[in-house]
Amino acid sequence: MALIVKKFGGSSVANAERVFNVANIITKDYAKGNDVIVVVSAQGDTTDDLIEKAKEINPNGCSKREMDVLLNAGEQISIALLAMAIEKLGYPVISLLGWQAGFNTDSHHGIARIKNINTERMKAELDKKKIIIVAGFQGISKYDNLTTLGRGGSDTSAVAIAATMNAQKCQIYTDVDGVYTADPRKVKSAQKLDEITYDEMLELATLGAQVLNNRSVEMAKKHNVELEVLSSLEEKPGTIVKEKVKMEKTLIRGVAKDTDVAAISVIGLNNNPGIAFKLFNALAQKNISIDMILQSVGRDGTKDITFTVNRPFANEAIEAIKLFSDNLEFSDIKCDSDVAKVSIVGAGMESHPGVAAKMFEALFDSNINLRMISTSEIKISVLIDENYADKAVTAIHDAFFN
Ligand code: ADP
Ligand code: ASP
Ligand code: MG
Repeated sequence: MALIVKKFGGSSVANAERVFNVANIITKDYAKGNDVIVVVSAQGDTTDDLIEKAKEINPNGCSKREMDVLLNAGEQISIALLAMAIEKLGYPVISLLGWQAGFNTDSHHGIARIKNINTERMKAELDKKKIIIVAGFQGISKYDNLTTLGRGGSDTSAVAIAATMNAQKCQIYTDVDGVYTADPRKVKSAQKLDEITYDEMLELATLGAQVLNNRSVEMAKKHNVELEVLSSLEEKPGTIVKEKVKMEKTLIRGVAKDTDVAAISVIGLNNNPGIAFKLFNALAQKNISIDMILQSVGRDGTKDITFTVNRPFANEAIEAIKLFSDNLEFSDIKCDSDVAKVSIVGAGMESHPGVAAKMFEALFDSNINLRMISTSEIKISVLIDENYADKAVTAIHDAFFN
């Protein structure tokens, strides 16, 4: 008998009708004799609504610990409702919160990492032939505080269970029927992919394709968990994420957009050795990740360094640099939040020259100016004005796929 892990996102359980739809999908597999563990997200926009409620209490930001207590409530509602629907269909079921399912995490509230999963309770419930419904996105720290894994973290909860419990497969059900060459809600000509490699999916997810959470892909690759992304509304095959896939004619696998970006420019730095070290060390001390970096050519003994960060961390980054400005002389620091990163991803580009030129030509034809560029073996990203992000995605997608 096989163990199957299924994860359903917020839109898949948004109302009673959808909850019963999901209950039917689950019980169908259970009735075939499989063990089934289900991970579920908060209904619809519940998590966003809870964040808004917290802002009404304290617009300057509530403590991260209490935010986690609040956000845990969203998934608690959906596991109970889904378990009730399965009970109504006449099947044995139990709902478990993250901590009851054994999710031990570190103490980074709001973005906790899973340390291990104590599988005792889940195994005991499977032995009793129960369908298990686990609240995604949550865990508990060693100080017995509730934690959350970061937005979109239920995907990671599902992959973690599949890896730890040695599941035969991990199915991520969502509101589209697979991974596409671009967000199918934004780009009408986007094409569904039958397969994609972990590395390509990891890049796409990290660069803004929210269909899978990037940590979940990282974990799936590490533990060799084969993932399928599929629709909860239509019964048909989805997209398989795995180590190796057949080469396609197209050189790239997809286009992604990230508008959660800010560019910070530090102007008039001394043009001496060690300046970049001091600057980025200040950010590292504060645990702030940076992405693209651009250093201007030195002139008049000074240089400028521009880098991008996740938009919510922009103020913290500027504060960190100012705090270290004793060590670091500069004339000005500027933050630009009206930017977006648009990227192409594909293992095929490594061995084919001209991919970057084709991307830049598409942007040129659309009269879109590039502010920064960064590349790796399997991706090229450009930073542009946020207003042009959708236009850029469509232009690049058309150039490669039409
Ligand atoms: P869930 O609530 O099920 O976790 P998400 O909203 O997190 O769903 O992810 C699904 C959404 O991801 C889709 O509705 C789609 O708009 C978006 N998306 C972005 N890029 C892609 C892509 N390349 N392929 C498929 N969907 C994408
Ligand atoms: N409910 C959480 C969120 O909206 C976790 C998830 O959906 O995966 O981010
Ligand atoms: Mg999601």
